[in-house]
Amino acid sequence: MSFPQWQCPGAKPLAARSPYAYHARVTPSPQAIQTISTAWETIRERYGAYTIALPGVPTFHCQPHLCDAHCCRAFTVNLGDAEVQRMRAASGLAPARFLESEHGEPIALPLAQPYILARRDNHCALLDASLGCGQYEGRPNACRLYPHFLLFFDSTTARPVHGDIAAIQRAIGDLHAGNPFEHLVPVLVRHVECPGFTGAPMTEADWLALVDETFSLQFPAA
Ligand code: SF4
Ligand code: SF4
Repeated sequence: MSFPQWQCPGAKPLAARSPYAYHARVTPSPQAIQTISTAWETIRERYGAYTIALPGVPTFHCQPHLCDAHCCRAFTVNLGDAEVQRMRAASGLAPARFLESEHGEPIALPLAQPYILARRDNHCALLDASLGCGQYEGRPNACRLYPHFLLFFDSTTARPVHGDIAAIQRAIGDLHAGNPFEHLVPVLVRHVECPGFTGAPMTEADWLALVDETFSLQFPAA
């Protein structure tokens, strides 16, 4: 079955919005790749659902016919206010039409991303019959991010870090500038249950663009 790429649940263009466009490097330094590989070896046992994504691994192409759109079935998707507004603008639908709602009002949980994408029959309500995303243009950040994710490994504590946004930004900046990492090492990982990694080996430039795109989606306010 052919699948329209523009509706693919996990498709993600590599035209990254890089905040580091004026730095010198468009490919990572060999030292950075070595440091990232070493960091992953230290933490990999904690991330059984993920494996590292480095230059040279197969390029990702969403192929929902291989997995019956696994990600749209397996995961419940949370959204923040900005994502709800983007989805509303793109779809022309009232939020109660695409969010879990009660009495016509979206349910808001006490979370940073308080809203939940509506589900029907054990999958996202927006998954269409041909396994495409029914609201591709407005889809949430989690859907744009999947199946990649950035971890930030603190080499001084040998633990992943989540909240130190300034240090996380510096780590991405060091990657672009070719500087040694201060103490945080960015590690790009991919979900092992996604079967979409079947393309040509990823170039170093595409890998760096993917890091930027993933960073932008994980930290949209950074
Ligand atoms: S699991 Fe991967 S291949 Fe399957 S629909 Fe999701 S992103 Fe696409
Ligand atoms: S909005 Fe729903 S159908 Fe679209 S990609 Fe996300 S989970 Fe899949």
